[in-house]
Amino acid sequence: MIHQILPVGLLQCNCSIFGDELSKEAIVVDPGDNIEDILAVLRRHALRVTAIIITHAHIDHIGGAAKLKAATGAPVLMNASDQELYDHLDVQASWLGMEAPTRTEIDTALRDGDLVTLGPAEFRVLHTPGHTQGSVSLWIPAEQKLIAGDTLFRDSIGRTDLPGGNPRQILRSIEDKLLTLPEETIVVPGHGGNTTIGREKERNPFLQGL
Ligand SMILES: [Zn+2]
Repeated sequence: MIHQILPVGLLQCNCSIFGDELSKEAIVVDPGDNIEDILAVLRRHALRVTAIIITHAHIDHIGGAAKLKAATGAPVLMNASDQELYDHLDVQASWLGMEAPTRTEIDTALRDGDLVTLGPAEFRVLHTPGHTQGSVSLWIPAEQKLIAGDTLFRDSIGRTDLPGGNPRQILRSIEDKLLTLPEETIVVPGHGGNTTIGREKERNPFLQGL
């Protein structure tokens, strides 16, 4: 499977572009910004987007969703508990001193246990609240990969001091939903470099008390 990670926007959110070589279908996760660059990758591989998945409604992850949907016609998928955050995209933009991007309708509400398919691969939706109430992670067993949004980072975890954040809940989500995945699973966080479940279990200072 094609998988390109593109750090986008002011906060360098990791946008993931997955493509199935055979069907030429693609899933884009967290198109926060730089939609022209994302479209260029899609064109280079002749990919057609079938789903735009949002791990959570912070502006650096969702800011470009409307533009990408307009360019590709693909539906936007997000957990409904982050709708209120998305409704206040203008407030989030003002925190960063940015102009508010246009918003779009969320086409499909993602729930824990949902499956989104790309060619022969399954993207399994894990509801992992704590950074925000609607935060989801995506486990792709066929690729041994986890797209972790802002829930789990290399040596760190997502901040919980913004509206909708809950420090005890994020630890419970990580312990119950993420640390139970195979240790060799590659973790692609919402920002910064990749890691593995095994490495974070062993070394992440925020998880040592679990
Ligand atoms: Zn975030």
